[in-house]
Amino acid sequence: MIKIDALPAFSDNYLWLLQDAESRCCAVVDPGDAAPVLAWLEAHPGWRLTDILVTHHHADHVGGVARLKDACGSRVLGPAQERIPARDQALGEGDRVQVLGLEFQIFEVPGHTLGHIAYYHEDAGQPLLFCGDTLFAAGCGRLFEGTPEQMHRSLSRLATLPAATQVYCTHEYTLSNLRFAKAVEPANPNTAERFARVSRLRERGDISLPSTIALELATNPFLRVTETSVKQMADERAGRENPTPVEVFATLRAWKDQF
Ligand code: ZN
Ligand code: FE
Repeated sequence: MIKIDALPAFSDNYLWLLQDAESRCCAVVDPGDAAPVLAWLEAHPGWRLTDILVTHHHADHVGGVARLKDACGSRVLGPAQERIPARDQALGEGDRVQVLGLEFQIFEVPGHTLGHIAYYHEDAGQPLLFCGDTLFAAGCGRLFEGTPEQMHRSLSRLATLPAATQVYCTHEYTLSNLRFAKAVEPANPNTAERFARVSRLRERGDISLPSTIALELATNPFLRVTETSVKQMADERAGRENPTPVEVFATLRAWKDQF
């Protein structure tokens, strides 16, 4: 049994810590800062950080990698197409890696960055997805390097994963994403319900993650670009027809950038 906790970092990052109590081994995803992980290890004597998983090259995801590897001798896994500090294993589409006894499948999901990867563990009960800054709860990453077409394809692919898949993204952006989702779909009751629920969580200072693919399909406007009402809102916003889902996506993404 793997336990997964969020170690907060910076203003809104989460470093996901996977723990195997039996072996007392743990792994961390996207450690932009080493300090929260080192503090956890100090508070949990006898535990070893065996693996560091990286989704993409941005500083808030790799800033702590070298220091953690130095301190713990961990193996560093990261995307083959990007410069990742201290990387031991370069991963690309279709690769499979074992982490804490779990097999993860690698998807290339370009858009936020060109070499961005996601880690997926297929499991009959509760599949796991670590998707970095690609799919967010009720949103998606900004297009720093990729095209709308690439991001739309990456998100569409993640959307086909089992509905029960637990989605572990890297930022606590859910509430602001839901504000935008409500603007896109003012009549979507699932969005309104989720907004109310996440508002209560955040008022108490609680985390809004992980999400699930089912919840994203119901409320994430970037996964809902083929809905008639979403297209109509995008057309209104752009002042012209968006004839394809990719164009609807591009209009939403540009709108969100200024929202
Ligand atoms: Zn990023
Ligand atoms: Fe980030």
